[in-house]
Amino acid sequence: MPIKILEVNEVKVMDITPLTWPNGIKKTKQRVSVYSILEQAKQPVSANDICKLTEQSDCPVWLSTVYRVLELFVKEHIVIKTTLADTDMALYELNRNQHKHYAVCLGCHKVVEMDNCPFHEFDPQLSDQGFHVLGHKLELYGYCLECEKSKNKEQVK
Ligand SMILES: [Zn+2]
Ligand SMILES: [Zn+2]
Repeated sequence: MPIKILEVNEVKVMDITPLTWPNGIKKTKQRVSVYSILEQAKQPVSANDICKLTEQSDCPVWLSTVYRVLELFVKEHIVIKTTLADTDMALYELNRNQHKHYAVCLGCHKVVEMDNCPFHEFDPQLSDQGFHVLGHKLELYGYCLECEKSKNKEQVK
């Protein structure tokens, strides 16, 4: 039974046995390790997070390898990559075919899930009528409550 990730930063030892495995992808120890972390993550994680988490498992994966594996997974549509606004930081999550958006804190990079989608019943009016829309991306950014508080404190000083 794999240990569930509660908070990315508070994982102890991980069992790297993925519950599922994508069709047509060759299994390697490193791929399995990265995949099982994504599978257990409750929110999008960075390549750094994944690397750190594998260090706590019995199959540590180097950061450069984590990136290579993620690149493959993204290419195969197994993983969704979100690049955060104004940073080069990217977050990765398993493509569970669920429609989701997130708000990301610019201070601590905390990720908050959005419960709704403003485009749910939205009929896009494109200047090129021949364009076939497949989906959309939406990213909210701002400050979480804690970061907002500490920001205000600094301003008082
Ligand atoms: Zn924050
Ligand atoms: Zn949406």
